[in-house]
Amino acid sequence: TGTTRPIRILQFVQRCAKHGDALSVISAIDSFCSKVEWAMNVGDKKGEILDAIVLETRPRWVLELGTYCGYSTVRIARLLPPGARLVTIEMNPHYAQVAKEVIQHAGLEAQVELLVGSSSILIPQLKKKLDIEKFDLVFIDHWKISYLPDTKLLEECGLLRAGSVLLADNVVCPGAPDYLHYVRNSPQYQSQYYQSYLEYLQVEDGLEKSIFLG
Ligand code: SAM
Ligand code: MG
Repeated sequence: TGTTRPIRILQFVQRCAKHGDALSVISAIDSFCSKVEWAMNVGDKKGEILDAIVLETRPRWVLELGTYCGYSTVRIARLLPPGARLVTIEMNPHYAQVAKEVIQHAGLEAQVELLVGSSSILIPQLKKKLDIEKFDLVFIDHWKISYLPDTKLLEECGLLRAGSVLLADNVVCPGAPDYLHYVRNSPQYQSQYYQSYLEYLQVEDGLEKSIFLG
């Protein structure tokens, strides 16, 4: 019928979530995706782990790789301390347009910079584009083959400091074995697995938190 899953998610948010209320946007997406149509959001279960890590890290600058409809963007942005910013990168312009409206519905557009393009092109431009020094937290959730090359690119571009936290989603399902091998074996990282469930399903998945040691 000419609509897309992201558009159906957006329409549900606009119909069911309160404007300016991030938590109601998150709950609307979770209920739509658990009851009506599955979608690749980090979801409610892993979302709680993501929330806890945002709160303990108290980041000034956050980078998100893979925005999709803006679910995790809203989850992270609502917990940021005053003055902090979230830069989120999405290469699909249709998804990015939906995310922009979801973020606005949550009232979080002032905290979020949404960049449309491929991470491998945009990461090297971030310092010039945004006057940013280092990221305190990076949420990695785009295509799994890009986790490792983009991590190495963040290192090369000087966007990580000692203590920066990388948080990677879907390290079990669908999995990112080369990335896991790297962060678990490199002396430059201290890495830890957080077991949980794949979004909206009873299938094991988890997040890997890796502290860059410099
Ligand atoms: N983080 C979102 C959430 O939890 O709500 C879900 C992101 S979804 C799993 C992955 C997204 O990454 C897709 O929308 C895809 O278009 C985007 N993507 C994949 N590879 C990318 C790349 N190299 N650069 C930018 N975006 C990319
Ligand atoms: Mg994911």
